[in-house]
Amino acid sequence: MSFAADVRNELARIIPDKECCRKAELHAIFVTNGQEFTMPNEEYLLLVKVENAATARKVFQLLKKTYYLQANVEIDNKKRFNKTRRYKVSAVLDTEQKKDLADFKVSLNAKNIINRAWVSKSCCRKAFLRGIFLNRGFISKPEGNYHLEIVLNNSKLASELIKFFSKFDLQARIVQRKQQIVIYIKESEQIVDFLRITGASKALLHFENIRILKSMRNTVNRQVNCETANLAKTVEAAVRQIELVEKLSMNEKLENLAAPLNEIAHLRVSYPDATLRELGEMLNPPLSKSGVAYHMRRLEKKANEIIEHEKK
Ligand SMILES: [Zn+2]
Repeated sequence: MSFAADVRNELARIIPDKECCRKAELHAIFVTNGQEFTMPNEEYLLLVKVENAATARKVFQLLKKTYYLQANVEIDNKKRFNKTRRYKVSAVLDTEQKKDLADFKVSLNAKNIINRAWVSKSCCRKAFLRGIFLNRGFISKPEGNYHLEIVLNNSKLASELIKFFSKFDLQARIVQRKQQIVIYIKESEQIVDFLRITGASKALLHFENIRILKSMRNTVNRQVNCETANLAKTVEAAVRQIELVEKLSMNEKLENLAAPLNEIAHLRVSYPDATLRELGEMLNPPLSKSGVAYHMRRLEKKANEIIEHEKK
């Protein structure tokens, strides 16, 4: 099963204890798909079409626990271009239930599609976010690129949601994809926050584990690259120094060098793999790494001078 489906299934199992939160979550699901009230045969019918089985299960549970409704869930057979199946959740309402549920009627022409009355408390805002993701959300597995998105078909709702996200310090961005409006988050920290807010603890744990593994791998790679580069520089310098010392030695100039240059020159040739620090420790009296580096520069300069002089 995909990571997105894992997250959805985890979120579908959360049934809030508080009635206010259950209503907020229902509002989120209704708002993202719209809902119809019809009256066939003098009866009241609530009908909501949702995007996946997990959301259908959730709507069923929320209606049952909040309004004691026994809803009916079926697969919507209407063909759609993108081929994903939708689910129809319907219930026959009595007059009282219809009055209660009338508040859920979504008006796309209203000033705000998201009814602030449902999401005024922070517990309800979390539930609302969960409902939005359940019905319309997608998340990539953390092993790849970090990505979380909400696919909508209403640009006004999209911009309201962006503002809603910002209440949680979630900076979602918006993009048009064919007929749809997509709001998305790419930053792993923000995706972690999203999972935490909506209560997907199991998914959060998995996401964090993978994230830690990935960042450790990056650190190790960086360290190896850095050590390789340093090693290459050290070897290059040692080769250059040894060549100079050998030239001096051929010209019998090596013995004329004053201490500690002569000593450093001998040690360089005897221990080609040694670092400057190690060469310094072998000297008597010992020298620091920067001390050896200083004398090494003098040695190179002197050697070059002698070699230049010999050429004339
Ligand atoms: Zn609440």
